[in-house]
Amino acid sequence: MPKTVNPSLTPAATLGTVRPMTATHPVRIGISRCLLGDEVRYDGGHKRDAFLVDVLSQFVEWVPVCPEVESGLGTPREAMRLVGHDKGPRLITIKHGTDYTHEMTRFSERRVRELETLDLSGYVFKKGSPSCGVERVRLYNQHGMPTRNGVGLFARAFIERFPLIPVEEEGRLNDPVLRENFIERMFCYRRWRDLMDGRVTRGAIVSFHTAHKYLLLAHSQTHYQSLGRLVADAKRHAPSELAHRYGVLFMEALAVKATVRKHVNVLHHLVGYFTAQFSAGEQEELHGVIGDYHKGLTPLVVPLTLVRHYVRRFDIAYLQGQIYLNPHPKELMLRNHV
Ligand code: SF4
Repeated sequence: MPKTVNPSLTPAATLGTVRPMTATHPVRIGISRCLLGDEVRYDGGHKRDAFLVDVLSQFVEWVPVCPEVESGLGTPREAMRLVGHDKGPRLITIKHGTDYTHEMTRFSERRVRELETLDLSGYVFKKGSPSCGVERVRLYNQHGMPTRNGVGLFARAFIERFPLIPVEEEGRLNDPVLRENFIERMFCYRRWRDLMDGRVTRGAIVSFHTAHKYLLLAHSQTHYQSLGRLVADAKRHAPSELAHRYGVLFMEALAVKATVRKHVNVLHHLVGYFTAQFSAGEQEELHGVIGDYHKGLTPLVVPLTLVRHYVRRFDIAYLQGQIYLNPHPKELMLRNHV
């Protein structure tokens, strides 16, 4: 059974706390309830997602939400779709044309306020749903012709209220790169929230930045440099303003996709810390392993495992603290597939 949180609980009253990595609070993730296997869909069915339920559940607490059921529609119910303009679509039942826009909008406003108290670190939405879909939801014009530029009403309300919280659709999580990126962002966001929950000082922000340096570099050199400048100028900002600016840029950086080329760049940076202590054979072996990764012959986990080994062996404290080497629970094996 996946761990779930009763939405009425306060943040302090947590269940089955899991604290992977350096996060100090549970990693609590919102989820479209049908993805957990609950039979809440319009046809009385579900859309259980095996990876989310059987694997990711071990490391997060789910906060399940079914906007259609919770806003008062029963199960089974008439199927609905988005109709009208992408800036303000209506939520209409397909057969009888009943308009539920008002009910869903009222519900969404209330529910996102409640979710604020649960301090979520991410949200997995059901793709394609007129309530939960994040992108490319079918939107019909007055002639009944669909385009793919709709956003589900509840998903839109959530994203507008929490622009920094990572969101993803379950379908996209089948892509190993997108899956790794989303889960990495979840844990990063949790750590940033933990930082904000403590006493926010310039020193704490600098330490946070230091620990995430190589992770940032694997995503975006531009953001890496901007964040570096922001931290270097820390004294020019009040700590709370600095933390806010940092958080916005930090989450923006992590949303930029890491690529093989960027990972290779980071790996070479890391190797530079201990290359002088290598034997010629060790150096050749490590560069060969990175080269194989670059050519697509091995996944990222292979050179990283070797780099981690040398970081431990040469006892390089600066690198031991790098989140890049350990961004999410190894049991998820996310870097075995990128
Ligand atoms: S997609 Fe959203 S509204 Fe539809 S059944 Fe799943 S949770 Fe409920």
